[in-house]
Amino acid sequence: MKLANYVSGQWIEGNDAGTALVNPVSGETLATAGSGGVDLQAALQFARSTGGKALRALTYAQRAELLGKVVEVLSANTEKYHQIAVANSGNTAVDAAIDVDGGIGTIKYFAAIGASLGDKHFIAEPGLERLTRDKNFQACHIQTPLKGVAIHINAFNFPSWGLWEKASVALLAGVPVFVKPATATSMLTQAMVKDVVEANILPTGSLSIICGGGHNLLDFVEFNDVVFFTGSAETAAKLKANPRVVETGVRFNVEADSLNLSLLGDDVEPGSPLFDAFIKEIAKEMTTKAGQKCTAIRRIFVPAGKVDAVAEALSARLQKVALGNPTAEGVRMGPLVNKAQQRAALDGLAKLKTETEVVFGGSESFEVIDADAAHACFLQPTLLKCNDPANAERVHDTEVFGPVATLLPYQSEEQAFELAAKGGGSLAGSIFTNDDEFAARACVELSSSHGRLLVVDESIMASHSGHGIVMPQCVHGGPGRAGGGEELGGLRALNAYHQRTAIQANLDRVTKLQG
Ligand code: NAP
Repeated sequence: MKLANYVSGQWIEGNDAGTALVNPVSGETLATAGSGGVDLQAALQFARSTGGKALRALTYAQRAELLGKVVEVLSANTEKYHQIAVANSGNTAVDAAIDVDGGIGTIKYFAAIGASLGDKHFIAEPGLERLTRDKNFQACHIQTPLKGVAIHINAFNFPSWGLWEKASVALLAGVPVFVKPATATSMLTQAMVKDVVEANILPTGSLSIICGGGHNLLDFVEFNDVVFFTGSAETAAKLKANPRVVETGVRFNVEADSLNLSLLGDDVEPGSPLFDAFIKEIAKEMTTKAGQKCTAIRRIFVPAGKVDAVAEALSARLQKVALGNPTAEGVRMGPLVNKAQQRAALDGLAKLKTETEVVFGGSESFEVIDADAAHACFLQPTLLKCNDPANAERVHDTEVFGPVATLLPYQSEEQAFELAAKGGGSLAGSIFTNDDEFAARACVELSSSHGRLLVVDESIMASHSGHGIVMPQCVHGGPGRAGGGEELGGLRALNAYHQRTAIQANLDRVTKLQG
């Protein structure tokens, strides 16, 4: 099967051989994806002129209603999407739910809060600013939708959620979406876009997709477009330097990689309920989606005196994780997405091993259920320990995109905060403590290097949403090596697709503009 691209209101197959999309358990080719011969410049222009114009003619409430209809269509097909996620991404049922249901839930959320913006075509911010002695001369601020196209370049690990967490916001804002999923897992993104297009919900040109190729897409950006990139820091740096991106000054949001941490407070005793909740969360983060989550915990900071207890409890938990074909009974963790990712993860692991000792896993030969380990793309869950984190470097700068994390003993609170910052900026951090004073200090100290912090005590240990789960109500993104971008966060998310303009005029005019 060749995945067709949807551009300029038409389904077009690439005229090249394309790239094979494989099942990471069996190695079977499921489809090919390519966009050879597609006129990308014309496709982007069609999205701007046809899709953008039609979307902007609608109000926020009308666009929110369309998002609601998208939810209905996708919800009716979730079983099909789950099957694709299992086949093309090696997802377990839980992994597939995080991606597929998480994506649909995000659209639902924006459909609901979008309705609150009402029958408007632009957003007027509350408040007036007096500028001179003349009370009749005032200013207000308005936000209007960008008139370009939103180009969304996504990573392989969330072909559904990655699509919808960006597209739902752009569509609500009135900006057409042009998505380029990562080729390796583009099958699911394409299936979802296809169902939405066939249901004829959105105006023509408001949702386009190319599967495979498209690495010259940014050569055609225009003023008022916006680029949202999710992927490795290396690719981000290359794309940001594209001369057309530089020349046009288009907004460029980056969600890149990250050495996310979890920090255990010194007050938490081994065997206590909060200690057990910490161990459970770390194990879950390491193994869900086989560790292929940008927010997954990579560095585990533990008081030096408790590191052995954590190592023992965590190893016992990882020991119980059955690896194998996600369709087989009892399997809790699937493979990495393909051979290239498996190789990259093994290379990263080798780098980490130069500064650490292996506590659990780390072997290249291990048991897998209902799969041939030699041909499949598995990586054993691996727990490492770094005895000298203050002088180590690789543990603070090497992201292994797989089920690998490192224990880092800390001697004092100050040292823990210093070592945390060595990660160079992260998407998410978690703190497990019942000590309110320590929790408050950790929040303040860690905030400048994190986009999101989850602070867990006994009162919420069974009810929180999880270290690695991105909630649409909260911002997603992180400083430094995490890319410096920001997505989601309720209605804040719309800012990226609007231009904020100060309007200075007489009182009557600014008041009327504010409605
Ligand atoms: P990647 O190799 O950087 O690819 C990301 C995207 O960029 C893919 O769609 C890829 O397309 C595209 N791309 C690559 N070179 C390009 C070029 N020259 N021009 C245009 N597009 C180009 O990253 P990945 O391997 O898919 O994802 C893994 C990384 O993403 C990890 O480091 C992870 O931490 C990070 N990530 C971050 C977040 C976040 O929200 N911060 C979320 C998920 C993943 P092709 O597939 O066609 O090459």
